Amino acid sequence: MPELPEVETTRRGIAPSLTGQRILQVTVRERRLRWPLPRGFEAQVAGCRVGGVRRRAKYLLVDTDRGTLMIHLGMSGSLRICPAGTPWRRHDHLALVLDSGHHLRFHDPRRFGCWLWTAGDPLAHPLLHGLGPEPLGDGFTADHLARACKGRAASIKQAVMDARVVVGVGNIYACEALFAAGIDPRRPAGRVGKPRLARLVGAIRAVLQRSIGLGGTTLRDFLNESGQPGYFRQQLQVYGRAGQPCPACGAAIRRVTLGQRSTFYCQRCQR
Ligand SMILES: [Zn+2]
Repeated sequence: MPELPEVETTRRGIAPSLTGQRILQVTVRERRLRWPLPRGFEAQVAGCRVGGVRRRAKYLLVDTDRGTLMIHLGMSGSLRICPAGTPWRRHDHLALVLDSGHHLRFHDPRRFGCWLWTAGDPLAHPLLHGLGPEPLGDGFTADHLARACKGRAASIKQAVMDARVVVGVGNIYACEALFAAGIDPRRPAGRVGKPRLARLVGAIRAVLQRSIGLGGTTLRDFLNESGQPGYFRQQLQVYGRAGQPCPACGAAIRRVTLGQRSTFYCQRCQR
């Protein structure tokens, strides 16, 4: 599944080819995405000029002079820029035809992705309103995390994976960041002290930044449609390594289930 680093890598990849372009038309081959493309979608988008591409959580926001396209990659979606004459592949569902002679093509075998149009402020859209801060933005601080965790009995891992606390911290990143911060993922969120929460904020930022830095690799991996995450696998310290030695102390990595998600940690290094 494309996670925040893959979405950010996609944003950086497509933004230069989209910004300043006029969308001449929208070609749709399959309307049945996560939510069916509404009738009239093509007419709303055709003729718009793109001002820029932002990201909020895992949504790409293509801002135009008339409104904003909100794109989510779902489980298996990907975007690419290609010359207009490029043959369509199976599962290419939609294209923006740009005046540069290129297409922005949307490919999504499982069709859990979505394309929405809003003429208003996309950040006020029900899908984005009420989300926590961006993990790499200024709003994600130890103070913020301490407020969000105060009195919370659920585990610290579930807290950082809650999009109302902070967006974009997927399961792999939560496991890796908690290991880097030396925090037991099972510990109640309300019982992690502020210095340790500050360490966790830094670890979450670092693990996401590192993955974005490796974006080319991860992007290629998820385009392979293997169905398995290919995220910076060589760099993973605990995720998916149950029974193997902890890279810090040599104790066996443990696997438990928290909030129905596989959770990997070192009992000796994480308290
Ligand atoms: Zn260890």
